[in-house]
Amino acid sequence: MTMKVALVGNPNSGKTTLFNTLTGSKQYVGNWPGVTVEKKEGQFKSNNREATIVDLPGVYSLSPYSLEEVIARDYIINEKPDVIINIVDASNLERNLYLTTQVLELGVPTVIALNMMDVVARRGDRIDMAALQKSLGCPVVAISAVKEHGVDKLIDMALLSAKKPLPRTFSSNTELVLSGVLDAVKDEPWLGCYEPRWLSVKLFEGDEDLLKRIQLSDAIKRKIDGIVKAMEAANDDDAQSIITNERYDCVAALLGQAYIKKERPKLTASDKIDKVLTNRWLALPIFFFIMWGVYFVSIQTVGGWTIGWVEELIGWVSGGVGTLLTSWGASDWVLSLVIDGIFGGVGAVLVFVPQLMILYLFISILEDCGYMSRVAFIMDRIFRRFGLSGKSFIPMLIGTGCSVPAVMASRTIENESDRKMTIMLTPFIPCGAKLPLFAMFVGLVFKDASWVGPSMYLVGILMVILSGLILKRTKLFKGNTTPFVMELPEYKMPRPKGLLLHIWEKGKSFVIKAGTIIFLASAVLWVLQSFSLSFEYLTPEQIDQSILAGIGHILAPLFAPLGFGNWMSAVASLTGIVAKEIVVSTFAIVSANTVVTFTAVTAYAFMMFTLLAAPCMAAIGAIRREMGSWKWTFIAIGYQTGLAYVMAMLVNTAGGFLFPNAKAIQLGSDAATAGEGALASVSLLDNPMIYILGAVLLAVAVTSLVSLIKRSGNKPLPGSATKL
Ligand code: GDP
Repeated sequence: MTMKVALVGNPNSGKTTLFNTLTGSKQYVGNWPGVTVEKKEGQFKSNNREATIVDLPGVYSLSPYSLEEVIARDYIINEKPDVIINIVDASNLERNLYLTTQVLELGVPTVIALNMMDVVARRGDRIDMAALQKSLGCPVVAISAVKEHGVDKLIDMALLSAKKPLPRTFSSNTELVLSGVLDAVKDEPWLGCYEPRWLSVKLFEGDEDLLKRIQLSDAIKRKIDGIVKAMEAANDDDAQSIITNERYDCVAALLGQAYIKKERPKLTASDKIDKVLTNRWLALPIFFFIMWGVYFVSIQTVGGWTIGWVEELIGWVSGGVGTLLTSWGASDWVLSLVIDGIFGGVGAVLVFVPQLMILYLFISILEDCGYMSRVAFIMDRIFRRFGLSGKSFIPMLIGTGCSVPAVMASRTIENESDRKMTIMLTPFIPCGAKLPLFAMFVGLVFKDASWVGPSMYLVGILMVILSGLILKRTKLFKGNTTPFVMELPEYKMPRPKGLLLHIWEKGKSFVIKAGTIIFLASAVLWVLQSFSLSFEYLTPEQIDQSILAGIGHILAPLFAPLGFGNWMSAVASLTGIVAKEIVVSTFAIVSANTVVTFTAVTAYAFMMFTLLAAPCMAAIGAIRREMGSWKWTFIAIGYQTGLAYVMAMLVNTAGGFLFPNAKAIQLGSDAATAGEGALASVSLLDNPMIYILGAVLLAVAVTSLVSLIKRSGNKPLPGSATKL
């Protein structure tokens, strides 16, 4: 049987890097049962040695407070891996060894991988491996996961000679008390199921999770309670703190013995960089400049061009397939299904892939070099105010281009509740695909009024803020008040190999997941709009007899309170679920043969609805993937659509009251061209909206920052102060 090796370590300790080095391409990525935390498993194979490597979530401790901690701890206790590799960031020993003191208690053979030894060496520091090994009571191997130094030795050690560790964490007095606690349960039938040492510590701490698993009689409870109370009284502290303090004492002693520091100037290079990048006044302008650069390259220029290239490529392929099908004598409907339905629908999504990958490349670079942690740190205090984390800022920014990468960018948010909220609210920021619709109405109904377009951005931002404030007070997002531990790692050069792996993973899953959903949806939509209820194949002009129109008729009354209760608008809203660009083309097709009218009020209500309601299929696919559950996907879509409905109704009601004589304007068959014409004049490159969005965010940020600085006296923005 192959051995099972679990990787345990702090976030950022290099677990992923080591995991990738060990398993190469033989990885399986899924989720831990029932939760959205990623589970990675992979096979290690070399020189007749073989093992299954499981990457546990990065954690700071094994007390079951956060989801990640519960997963890591449950896995070790329930699944009993053969070996644990505890990966420790040697450049940050104090924080990392705290976890180690807990890992060693689990009774599983453990090898410590002292990672980032290159950083330690660069600093000129040294670590006395023998002393460390002796004090920890288990093998310690120095490695550099990035440089792949020491990894062979580590895996040899893990697979061939790992033994149950003999930890010496606690003082002799505490040891005595712990054995007293263990003695109290010595006759219990479940005793053999747990590692005695771990059991005694957890019983002493009164670990709720454990107490739920084992049923203690009242007599035993009283006995343990007596021991704990006596110890608490003697130390004038509670049981958990006693244990925590002794763990820190132990780590401090270890460091004193084993870590030999080089004399050095006070400021490291990272500190110096942080002096500029997280400077009280420069932080935001620098950040905006960098993000503007990223946005400029990946959305507006290079990334934008790739859309054209891929469109051309897809057009070329679909043209070829069309010719081929025709030469095989395929019927009209097969041709239309394949070309208009499948190629049209799937192509509309695939065109985003290169852009997405370019964007991810930049985001990954910023993440890997350590800058993103600073951004989240700078933005956190501002976003906190309306219930979002600083890390929510980045997805929202990306959302001005496309909600799909935006939703996916929410991955970097560790706090589950913040992440879900961000996923839910990001689609409110108008994406590029909603612009043609706005442009169409601005041109046809609003006589090119310049306030209309930007107002959509403002509404989007306001809805994010408002929703943040409201949702934080609901049951769904309440209670999750894990303190925000901000960690500013040292700046590092990103590694090309890691970057490529990142974007490859993202691109691949995008193509597969969004592609399958879109594929199905496109085919279904094509059928609905191409066939009548009696299943006759229709020409595009006969769309009003289609099944889709039938559905539109049924849905239309629903939209009546919003001011656009006709089947065409209902259908246009519905097709918007496939892709928002399609809304305009739907109007173009249906208004060619039917009369569709809008007043300024109903048009604005329609825009409001499109802005806020459920995003397109691709984005819903991304939401489903990132949420990891259908339930949450429906909650998100439900909230978005519900809010859209209420807001559109408000616009229609208030507008009807304020402008009772608003003129009805008929959309012509040139709706689409008018839209495109208007769109061209607000093309993204010189689109004032982008700058307005930036200005609004900057204003929010600056005012909040100023008030923060005022409140915190003259303290500078703590850059290095927060280093853990
Ligand atoms: P995880 O959060 O524990 O999975 O950590 P990662 O594997 O993502 O590593 C965090 C950062 O540390 C990445 O930027 C890695 O490139 C970097 N890193 C990992 N191992 C080493 C190492 O041995 N030396 C150096 N200098 N950097 C490393």
